[in-house]
Amino acid sequence: MRTIYLNGKYTPETEGKVSVFDRGFLFSDAVYEVVSVLDGKLVDFGGHVQRLARSLGEIGICGAPDADGWLTICRELVARNNLEEGMIYWQVTRGAPEDRDFIFPSTETPPTVLAFTQSRKLADNPLAQRGIRVITMPDLRWGRADIKTTQLLYASMMKNEAIARGADDAWMERNGWITEGSAQNAHIITHEGVLVTHPLNREILHGITRASVLPLVAQRIEERPFSISEAEQAAEAFVSSASGFVMPVVQINGHIIGDGKPGSATVQLRRAYIDWARRSAI
Ligand code: PLP
Repeated sequence: MRTIYLNGKYTPETEGKVSVFDRGFLFSDAVYEVVSVLDGKLVDFGGHVQRLARSLGEIGICGAPDADGWLTICRELVARNNLEEGMIYWQVTRGAPEDRDFIFPSTETPPTVLAFTQSRKLADNPLAQRGIRVITMPDLRWGRADIKTTQLLYASMMKNEAIARGADDAWMERNGWITEGSAQNAHIITHEGVLVTHPLNREILHGITRASVLPLVAQRIEERPFSISEAEQAAEAFVSSASGFVMPVVQINGHIIGDGKPGSATVQLRRAYIDWARRSAI
């Protein structure tokens, strides 16, 4: 059984208790992070702490642990759960006032702070050898996709629909332009050898993996929106995320990308990212 962290305590997973009035439960009034673990060490820890602080600031939740606090929590969870490879999930909600109310409680209501581990094979993921098939769906999320909130119902619905339709995942589009994947940033490499990726604005999550991957890219990079048809005709495509690293995409809306196998530049980039992640993990 896992040991989790909840509000200052390490407890067995079955014993963690949260109020039914918790605003994370009633309003999805919460933000989260997912940090990957390789060789028992934390990948891109600084980036995730910074983004969490930004998400908390954007919605005005106070009182969460600082960087040192998160580092202690993560290291303690890794040790107590003997985690060699996988993820640590962090969530901070606006806490549990005494009743349900749209109005935010006073800042004296402490936030609910949760963290737990998930053991997974990340580097040796068989999906990375095969590559994933995606289909495009309208991006119907709220207008602040840059805040990593726990409002994940739409992403979850899209992923389930993609699987029901014989694909692995969904890419979202607004007016024909790809924004990002259900839980990943989306990238293509054109036949001219240019890596194209959506610019950082409110329409996408500012991926921590994206930020670490781009400096490792050998190709020229263009940060601009790309259309569904440009994606369908790309030479290579991939997604980036903390748990999937660099994941090749081999089909978009049934269009085969390249020769239907992970592209060589993508495979190289995945290797380069994993090497970098192992070297820089803390
Ligand atoms: N975009 C969305 C919508 C996500 O949910 C995620 C990760 O969960 C990402 C992109 C990738 O971000 P990161 O690389 O920080 O995991």
